Amino acid sequence: MTSQTTTPSLGAAYALKCRECGATTDLDASYACVECFGPLEVAYVPTVVSREEIEAGPNSMWRYESLLPVVPGAGGRPGLQPGLTKLVRADNLAAALGAKSVWVKDDSGNPTHSFKDRVVAVALENARRLGFETIACASTGNLANAVAAAAARAELKSVVFVPSNLEAGKIVTTAVYGGTLVAIDGNYDDVNRLCCEVAAARDWGFVNVNLRPYYAEGSKTVGFEVAEQLGWRLPDAVVSPVASGSLLTKVDKAFREFVGLGLVADRPYQVFGAQATGCSPVSQAFAAGHDVIRPVKPDTIAKSLAIGNPADGPYALDVVRRTGGAMADVMDAEVVEGISLLARTEGIFAETAGGVVVATYRKLLREGLIDPAAEVVLLNTGDGLKTLDAVAPTSGPTFTISPSYDDFENHYSEVTA
Ligand SMILES: *Cc1c(COP(=O)(O)O)cnc(C)c1O
Ligand SMILES: [Zn+2]
Repeated sequence: MTSQTTTPSLGAAYALKCRECGATTDLDASYACVECFGPLEVAYVPTVVSREEIEAGPNSMWRYESLLPVVPGAGGRPGLQPGLTKLVRADNLAAALGAKSVWVKDDSGNPTHSFKDRVVAVALENARRLGFETIACASTGNLANAVAAAAARAELKSVVFVPSNLEAGKIVTTAVYGGTLVAIDGNYDDVNRLCCEVAAARDWGFVNVNLRPYYAEGSKTVGFEVAEQLGWRLPDAVVSPVASGSLLTKVDKAFREFVGLGLVADRPYQVFGAQATGCSPVSQAFAAGHDVIRPVKPDTIAKSLAIGNPADGPYALDVVRRTGGAMADVMDAEVVEGISLLARTEGIFAETAGGVVVATYRKLLREGLIDPAAEVVLLNTGDGLKTLDAVAPTSGPTFTISPSYDDFENHYSEVTA
């Protein structure tokens, strides 16, 4: 329910507002402030919504539509219906780590198996509103999956740009939806630079370039769901993976919005950020006490997090510092251990980004940076089936035998001895 709006066509959203200087502009396809080049964010008029109204909504992220920049759809919205993924109590993982209370928000359950379906859903609604017939993106993999699938369902054209060294599991799972898949000999930051040029020249809706302010709001639904699924309350801490830094900042924004709406009680919480050491510009800035982020050249198996020049890095640092959290990073071998630990303890097969989160949580515990008694929500943002290469070398048959009973008994007693 919105009280009043100046642009009723987009719910409670009334403008794009510069995060640096506060200048406002129309709700069109732009992402940088004309005054100071600062990033633009969606601004809303005050909204009122009750727990009951949300609970009566669709079983998807659209139950929060009154808190998103979308035309109110009264539950009848088209598309892949992402969200309302499982919040899994992870007692076995907690026990293995000597922690008390751990949850896994498992966004591998989304339509294309990562949290990117959420951001694409909000961007696509706006692409449609603004009349774009082609949607596009610069992607580290999962976003390309999500854009290609959503475009197929919406009967829009898609053009997605990815680094050519992506995991086969992400190339195939994007190409299968049709659309144009452009592989670029370069890293994500090269891809992103090219996409900014293409966006300036073509009338396309780039979900994470000219539609980025809308896209970014979609990540709030992760935070909304965590709070609702905990029984309308906030956890002590969240550990979020960091690529551009957008997801981390929006989970915090979601918590603050819920507090502001009176949907959850106000209480302190800590936000922690997780990166792979081979691409850890935000973690390095945190360790050095810097506000400015020095771009790096990514080299890690956590390709979905391999953004060397993260657009929202400084804002992610602000959130972590304001909430008393921390940023940390883990080596690729630890990422594989993290994937394996989560799979063996909870039966959840995470992609490399999830391995980064689990391993970072373990490291934060070991270093005393997070209280083992704290109730923690770990964000698993993607599915391990897309990054099989990461675990294939350490995951194979326990033994291979001829189809002989004796052979089986011999080998089995050996491994269980
Ligand atoms: C994109 C992505 C992230 C990080 O997203 P940002 O909002 O750019 O920080 C995390 N995990 C997975 C699996 C992703 O695909
Ligand atoms: Zn500005």
